[in-house]
Amino acid sequence: ATETRALFMLFGATGDLAKRKLYPSIFNLYKKNYIDQKHFALIGTGRRKWSDQDLRDVILESVKDSAESEDQANEFASHFYYMSHDVTNPEHYRALSDYADKLEAKYETEGNRIFYISMAPNFFGTVAENLKSQNVLSDNGGFNRLIIEKPFGRDYKTAEELNNSLGKSFNEDQVYRIDHYLGKEMVQNIQALRFGNPIMESVWNNKYIKNIQVTLSEKLGVEERAGYYDNSGALRDMVQNHIMQIVTILAMEEPVAFKDTDIRNEKIRALRSLRIYDKDEARENFVRGQYGAKGEQRDYRHEDDVPTDSNTETYVAGKLMFDNQRWAGTPFYVRTGKMLADKFTRIDVVFKKPLIDVFDAGDKDKSGLDSDVLTLFVDPVQKVILHLNGKVPGQGFTTKGIDLTHVQSDEDRKNTPEPYERLIHDAIKGDATSFASWQEVGRAWKLADVVRNLWDTEKPDFPNYTPGSMGPKDADDLLARDGNKWVFTL
Ligand code: NAD
Repeated sequence: ATETRALFMLFGATGDLAKRKLYPSIFNLYKKNYIDQKHFALIGTGRRKWSDQDLRDVILESVKDSAESEDQANEFASHFYYMSHDVTNPEHYRALSDYADKLEAKYETEGNRIFYISMAPNFFGTVAENLKSQNVLSDNGGFNRLIIEKPFGRDYKTAEELNNSLGKSFNEDQVYRIDHYLGKEMVQNIQALRFGNPIMESVWNNKYIKNIQVTLSEKLGVEERAGYYDNSGALRDMVQNHIMQIVTILAMEEPVAFKDTDIRNEKIRALRSLRIYDKDEARENFVRGQYGAKGEQRDYRHEDDVPTDSNTETYVAGKLMFDNQRWAGTPFYVRTGKMLADKFTRIDVVFKKPLIDVFDAGDKDKSGLDSDVLTLFVDPVQKVILHLNGKVPGQGFTTKGIDLTHVQSDEDRKNTPEPYERLIHDAIKGDATSFASWQEVGRAWKLADVVRNLWDTEKPDFPNYTPGSMGPKDADDLLARDGNKWVFTL
């Protein structure tokens, strides 16, 4: 392990995300020596009037299950400091800057500073601008990096404004926009499978692939996040970011080298050939849904904190097209929703059948052959299944589907870091491979905006799907129109 010295500044240190995800991840990095165990410190800020000890108690609580000893946990927690802070008050940043200088001297962190904003997005710009104007950024040879969470804007315009305000203080290569799906093992594996295997990459195009399907399925409803969710909806919450990132990695060309700048170039290039629909095309190619009631389960409009006339979509399915040599004619179907049959994420790559079926007198339309399908199971179990045609053993000659299966071993699972752990480590190393660049985010908003603008002007017929199903019937029709169907159905 190459350890890196750094001073962290976490805005939103008393928040839910910090407690549940960030502290355990930073602890794991510390245990593995990916953070220099001696030369690191973290200043947490929040509105609450906490003491250092209050924060350390939270740290101890969030690492207690993974610490090897009480001493280890205490030693780790001793690197954490708290400052009560109002992010809108410039004076507070001067105090923060003084404190940072002091801790930097104490822990000899060599001027490396990582700023993590784990707060509501309306504060991102304010924090970033004050960091610069109040001289909180390091200026003595170390690095300054900014890590921010989703959501990144709520449409292209607000995302661009946000990006411009970050840009006053940080260059694009200093901004690490977290999309935690990019930290998932099987999403990263897409590139290994594609670019490491000629037998994959040589068929990874419109000549052999009929369609590609990406499904992010959630079993729960809105739970206690309704206040946020009802203002967002599935298109903004899941499609514009996570789904678009996955699709881009599936569609991109091979990078010149496996480094962040080269990968970004290819992702951006792929997204430039993504077809941005007009209004009529958006209506044709996107389906929205909202869940109804079933048994004990209330319909979305009667969930706590949801207005009874809400037109927010809890389900989206869409068809995306890339207008380039590799993909012309091959649709990418995506879908996500709440209150569906199960919680899972999967990618199905559906291959074309042979042009002639020699087993069935040559008529491919009457063929008994299955479509070959490569399925990447992202969550909850990590597997790869390649579904092929084989022979039914015995006399005579009929074919049947067979599966080549790779399942992640327990050992592999143990060695798989949580997305946040992996991504924070990458940010410490200065490796932006698994973060979303502004141009990617911007392009994804351009597509989402067209759909959003259409939906905001036309009244939906909600509710239109039943809890426990895989979404509205329109989502099946979307594929049926092209002679396709979802690989995963109930
Ligand atoms: P939270 O509401 O639990 O915490 C917000 C934090 O911001 C608190 O520490 C609070 O003290 C601080 N804060 C608020 N106003 C402030 C002010 N004026 N000055 C100083 N501090 C202030 O939020 P959270 O759930 O931890 O989420 C943080 C961010 O992460 C949000 O952008 C959210 O969208 C994103 N996110 C959260 C989750 C999650 O699972 N909770 C998942 C993905 C993304």
